Amino acid sequence: MAKLSDMLSQDSAQKLQEYQKKQGGARKKHRKPPQKGRAVRIPDFVSIDLETTGLDKNRDRITEIGLVKYVQGREVDSFSSLVNPGIPIPPDIVELTGITDTMVAQAPPFAEIMDQVYRFIGRMALCAHKVDFDFYFLNEAFQRNGGKRIRNWRIDTLATARLLLDLHEGYALGKVARALGVSLEHAHRALDDARAGGEVALKLLPMIDDIPVETRVKLARFAPFSFVKKMLEYSVQGYGAEKSMQLQRKKFVVSPRAQGDPAELVSPQEVAELLQEKSPLAEKIPGFYSRPAQQEYAQEIAKSLNTGGVAVMEAGTGTGKTLGYLVPAALWAFRRGACVMISTNTKNLQEQLIQRELPKVATLLGDTFSYTLLKGKGNYVCIKAWNSFVSGETGSLAPHERDAVLPLIKWMDETETGDIEEQSFFNHHRMTHIWQLISAENRSCAGCPSYDACFMQQARLRAAHSHVVVINHALFYHDVMAHSSFTDGADALIFDEAHQLVPTGYHSLVTEIDSRRTAALVEYLQEIVNTLKGYKTDGVGRSFEERFSALTRAVKALRKNSTNFLSEVSLWLRKNRSHADDMSRGILQIRYEPATFARCEAGAGLILALTESIHCVESFVRSGIPALERGIALNELRVGLDRLRQYRADVHYLASADTAGHLFWAQGPEDGKWVKLTGTPLAVDSFLGDFWKHFAGPVVCTSATLSPDTTLDYFVHRAGLAEYTPKIQRYESHFAPESILPLVVKDAVDVRDTSSVDYILTVLADIKENTGKNTVVLFTNNALLEDVYHLFIQRYPQYKGAVFAQRISGNRTWIQNQMEEVEGAILLGSGAFWEGIDIPGAACEIVVIPKLPFPVPTHPIVRAISDDIDQRGGNGFMDYYVQEAVLRFRQGMGRLLRHRDDRGVFLVLDSRMIQKGYGKRFLRVSPVDFMEIESNAVSQEISRFLREE
Ligand code: SF4
Repeated sequence: MAKLSDMLSQDSAQKLQEYQKKQGGARKKHRKPPQKGRAVRIPDFVSIDLETTGLDKNRDRITEIGLVKYVQGREVDSFSSLVNPGIPIPPDIVELTGITDTMVAQAPPFAEIMDQVYRFIGRMALCAHKVDFDFYFLNEAFQRNGGKRIRNWRIDTLATARLLLDLHEGYALGKVARALGVSLEHAHRALDDARAGGEVALKLLPMIDDIPVETRVKLARFAPFSFVKKMLEYSVQGYGAEKSMQLQRKKFVVSPRAQGDPAELVSPQEVAELLQEKSPLAEKIPGFYSRPAQQEYAQEIAKSLNTGGVAVMEAGTGTGKTLGYLVPAALWAFRRGACVMISTNTKNLQEQLIQRELPKVATLLGDTFSYTLLKGKGNYVCIKAWNSFVSGETGSLAPHERDAVLPLIKWMDETETGDIEEQSFFNHHRMTHIWQLISAENRSCAGCPSYDACFMQQARLRAAHSHVVVINHALFYHDVMAHSSFTDGADALIFDEAHQLVPTGYHSLVTEIDSRRTAALVEYLQEIVNTLKGYKTDGVGRSFEERFSALTRAVKALRKNSTNFLSEVSLWLRKNRSHADDMSRGILQIRYEPATFARCEAGAGLILALTESIHCVESFVRSGIPALERGIALNELRVGLDRLRQYRADVHYLASADTAGHLFWAQGPEDGKWVKLTGTPLAVDSFLGDFWKHFAGPVVCTSATLSPDTTLDYFVHRAGLAEYTPKIQRYESHFAPESILPLVVKDAVDVRDTSSVDYILTVLADIKENTGKNTVVLFTNNALLEDVYHLFIQRYPQYKGAVFAQRISGNRTWIQNQMEEVEGAILLGSGAFWEGIDIPGAACEIVVIPKLPFPVPTHPIVRAISDDIDQRGGNGFMDYYVQEAVLRFRQGMGRLLRHRDDRGVFLVLDSRMIQKGYGKRFLRVSPVDFMEIESNAVSQEISRFLREE
């Protein structure tokens, strides 16, 4: 196997020798360590990229290979060849790479170029973006063709980029290359990708020098066996290898909230003056302009805070709602030494408040005004768990998991907040196994040695001492349910994006168990058993053996009983298929009463097995066995205990609780491969009603679109506010009616027709070709969005760089930026894009709605709400489905005009709006009448309108 020195360029190796000589020889101990560590040495390497027929190294074949050789940091040679794979290239791969069957028909098969590839690579390190894919694919090809496997060192630019760069748009090669200023013209062609990968490596590797040496020591110790580990080890050779892995964090200090006069009121007049042009606040905001509606709104907010009670206020797009409530709220809290809690639905709005709006308001009030963002416990890293995780045995962590943790080690040495969302290199939603081991969720904090340095405690204490605290609706529900009190500490509450308060309630209050969660729990416990096997020889005596045997038996029983229970549920689903509420895509969905499973033997067996497992794990946790204290097993056991307890509580709720007023449903495919049980309280209005009853301070619910009509009654009733006679106010958008052209197509293809995808494509292509204006398309269904995206770029490849799809092209921020940068861009979005994006001016001049946004009728909650209205003598369709759709429709329309100078076209491709009786409710939403139009006149009408002054 090649040594590190073989990998270093000659020049680097010479310098290394000289350095060692100066230091008195590489082996000499006790020399003074270099305080900044050694500069890393860039090795000579071959950058490789393979294009293949697919991702399976056994079944798929290479279609193109690209190799670029770098010596002393410079490209010295390259090799590339198309390869005849001997099997057809699938259409999606052709779409991705542009390599067709015809192109490779005359190319050599891999066997013919194999020797050239061997010779080119030699013993040099192989470098690629996700190098293991190319490495194992190549070795498979060598072996299949009678060659030998290679064992060269590997450099992974993906893992290294994650360690060194914080890229919110993702770590695809193109994105890393762009971030480093490396050009990549023909992505997914082998030589271009290989060259870009090589250039990326040359820029990335020296950046290791910028990591503080103390952090490099930790990284070198934790990294799995790899070339990067070698480089790190080399760079810290002789520097404090004995240093602790523990996070050394100073005790946090939080200044108490500046006190005020609790009786002081905020003057509405003062608030209005602050929101006028040339005011001290206006001068701090570039482009500020005075808006009468904003001033009126802000004055009403001030009055509501002064007088208490509940206010429900809709302030249309463009009124300046956010600053309109923030100014009186901040003044009110600051003057009284009180706390105003602001709850939002989207992360975007939270960021806007914390990063943009509150700092402006703070400049008015001075240094003693305090504000903060508070998140749920599950967003913060627990220092106690972290120290145990990085210091102990790495247990069952796979090398790729250790690689994934490396950037976290670096980040943990830097972060002030410990908020996992602050970074982008570790996806805690995917790496749940690791995240559960280190997150602050469900920790028992009593007596914690890291309490005074804890990120989560710091965030909570800061919230308790701030004048303004920003939270989200989900955390609000969580806090109220957990009686964990920080909402009680608030003196006033403002719910922005309040139209989402009730829907978030349904989702926040949901409990579910399914096959995947159950299997993950059993596997997690099994891994603990496997880890503990290694402790048996640790001389801890008989009690360990007994506990170990009991736990092994309990996990086995849990596996058996959970399988039995889920099989029983699956059988029940299939037996009752004739009562299914929904069977789309082969998934049965049936509502049930918990009593259905309360009498089932398998359910009782599962509860017993869970209780036994809890008992066994508890016995280990409390044993005080020293070997456990040293490793991460104790940490894993504690997490396992929390998971078991929560799971048992959830099984109780879903399968045996006497829970009137709750909704339960089971789901699973016909083949019984998986099953899911879900339950939720239906009466979110009563839940909120109870809260309003107990909360003594003023409450403001506000949004740009609170209700489908002008009365706001819809929101008031759903939020349980009817009996509190809230103050109701509406403030219209200030846009001139002639700024918008609303169009509805008369001859649109029915959205339920299979040809509707083609129809949508044709309209979008027509708009793109003939107007060239930036367009946002809002879908109600992800499958349709994806179909339109893939077909669009397949049919119109010339527009590939100008079409961006949610979840496919990049994250939301990146897509929004593309809309600002790319002329004629088309954004395809769904879900949160209906309300959570702000793309002003020319970046969005057209909004297209392919289909009216009705709620999914087969969703159990949607159905139950509608049925409930029917049963109480109302009309579930008109009073709920249509109302929800109109509300969503208004939100979609709100994406169009964001700034006072904006003009735009709102285009609806759903003719039901003019054909059905309920369509009038949608038509009434627009400030000017909808124009009915034929499909073939759409682009012409758009162009005419947007050309007008
Ligand atoms: S106080 Fe709790 S969350 Fe914080 S470090 Fe200690 S155990 Fe972890």
